[in-house]
This record gives sequence, structure tokens and C-alpha cells, in this order.
Amino acid sequence: MITKKLLINKESYENSINEAAAILNDGGIVAIPTETVYGLAASAKSDTAIKKVFEAKGRPQDNPLIVHISNMDMLNFVAKDIPEKALDCAKRFWPGPLTMVLPRTDYTAPSVSAGLNSVAVRMPSHKTALDIIEISGLPLAAPSANVSGSPSPTSPFHVENDLNGKIDAIVYDNECAVGVESTVISFCVNPPRLLRPGAVTKEQLLEIIPDLAVDKAVLKEPEKDAKVESPGMKYKHYAPKTSVFLVEGDSDEFIKFVNSEKDCSAICFYEEFNQITVPKLSYGEGENEESLAKGVFSALREIDNLNLEKVYIHAPSKTGIGLAVYNRLLRAAAFRVIKL
Ligand code: AMP
Ligand code: MG
Repeated sequence: MITKKLLINKESYENSINEAAAILNDGGIVAIPTETVYGLAASAKSDTAIKKVFEAKGRPQDNPLIVHISNMDMLNFVAKDIPEKALDCAKRFWPGPLTMVLPRTDYTAPSVSAGLNSVAVRMPSHKTALDIIEISGLPLAAPSANVSGSPSPTSPFHVENDLNGKIDAIVYDNECAVGVESTVISFCVNPPRLLRPGAVTKEQLLEIIPDLAVDKAVLKEPEKDAKVESPGMKYKHYAPKTSVFLVEGDSDEFIKFVNSEKDCSAICFYEEFNQITVPKLSYGEGENEESLAKGVFSALREIDNLNLEKVYIHAPSKTGIGLAVYNRLLRAAAFRVIKL
């Protein structure tokens, strides 16, 4: 298959989004930008289009997709019995990086929800994404546009690397502003539960949902065969080929530790870069969790170019969006944490 390149610039914008919408209406699959990561979009109403998404990504069949909407009417098509608190969250955080799991209607194909009776919904804040949804008139199911298991794509070139030749088109827009996937909370359990941390932080959600629970899987390895609320959390994720170890400690401890290790590389904070003597990359400023979120997936993709056996990554703090970065790195590290 030849993957079409749909460029986003002043001259090409209208053509590109119209073409993306037309491909989606024809049952095709298109990688689109969002503020979190690039998504691989398909009509949420079309079972055959959804099957193509699972196939292109090599995604396990029991891992449901997030449905992206551009207005509140679409929410009422795809979800029902929406609790008041969910509407409060929509008012406060949409459009934006918050996904809500709600009871589903029959509007979307069952394969979107991987057989569950709930649906995950989000209204992204990215203009290109919103325009494509609006013009196509379709709620779009869109998981991250990467090969399952690899780091999520934050630039169209990451998408190209993973999926060129396997999907109908890629929309080439800028790098993603947030850099980690959306926060996911479920309203299908009582009290509502944080399933995946993201840019809408636990602290912000607690202001609206004081009894919000946090799923064990956020910071722990799910036990084998345990029932997980969010199927995506049980799979190997975000992993480069290099073996990842997550290292907790202050800057002095981290620098001393990696400099004493052999055959390894490091992913560090900017401010540590010059003092590290092994091959290294930095992924953001240690005190600025937003910058770490923006840089984390690119760094995980680039580390394999250094061709070393192991990489030690300096863990961020677990507050604010740092919790989301920590959650992704924990999975990239297959839960191997070194505490200094
Ligand atoms: P991705 O599309 O790769 O960002 O992953 C979507 C995440 O949302 C995965 O962790 C899924 O397991 C989770 N998810 C999607 N739909 C549901 C649902 N109906 N119930 C629980 N989790 C969901
Ligand atoms: Mg994903």
C-alpha cells in the first residue's frame, strides 16, 4: 500500500483535511496529529475500518480504542447515562487531554470497545484533529499511531517510521505539544477511577471528584491474570530495543551512578548532560515535568541509535504530569526500578 502524505501548511491545509476526511469516510485509516500524541484514526462506526487499525498496529484484540469527538452532540451518540461529574469534567477539561470511560450505546462498532459495554471518549484540543472530525462528521476511534509496544509517536516522522506502507495516509503536522497520551478515568466504577495518568493531572481531577480512586496499575505491575480495569495497562509498552532501567535519586546520585557503570547509556535531565561521561540523551528539564513529557518518547526512540545494551533513565517526580511520565517509563523499563 502507498501511504499518502497530507502536508499541513497554509496553502495545503484545506486540501489535506478534506482529503483525510474523505479517506476516513471511505473506511480508510489515517494518522492524525493531536495535542497528546499522533493517533491512527478510523471511523468508529465501521467494524472493517477498526479491524484495519488493529492489524496495522499489531494491537491485541482485547485492548479497546479511544473515540475522538468534536462536539457534545457526538458524545450523546456514543455514550449514555452520563453522570453529572463526567459532564463537569467535560466542561472543565474539554477540548483537552482527558478521556472518560462511560456506558456505551450501539452507535460505535463493538470492536472499538473490544467487547466491553463501555466506551472511552475524548474531545481533543488540536485544531487539525477537530477539523478532520468535524468535516468527516464521524467520531474517530484512534489509538496511538505506532506499532504496538513501541514508544508512542510525537512527530509525523515517528509515524512514518512505524507505519509507512501499512496505512492510507499520514497528516504531517507539528510535533505534539503535550507528548504523552491522555489521562483516562472510568465513570463505570464507583468511585470514578484514574486508569492512566496524563496531562490532566490527578490533582486537578480531585478538585471535581474528591473521592477519585487511582488504579493499582498506574504505579504497579498488574498481577498475572488479575482483572484489569484498563486492558491497555497489562501489555508491554513504550519499549525500545535497549534494556531500560528507571533510576530514582537526586542529580548527584544519578550522575555518580551512571558514570560508574559500563556498556550503558543514559537518558538524563538537561542540567545533568555535561557531567555525564557515558553516551547520553537528555529528555527535558528535571524541574519542568511538562518538558519531560514532551521529550520522553523521542528519547526512547533515539536511544537505540546509541547501540548499547542498557539505558539508565533518570526518573521524574511523580507529581503533576510527572506521574504520567513516570507511568510510561515504568512500563518501558518492564517495572525495573533502581532506587539510589
Ligand atoms: P491508546 O489508544 O494506545 O492511547 O490506549 C487507549 C487506552 O485506553 C488503553 O489503555 C485502553 O485500555 C484504555 N481504554 C480504552 N477504552 C476503554 C474502556 N472501554 N475501558 C477501559 N479502558 C479503556
Ligand atoms: Mg498506545
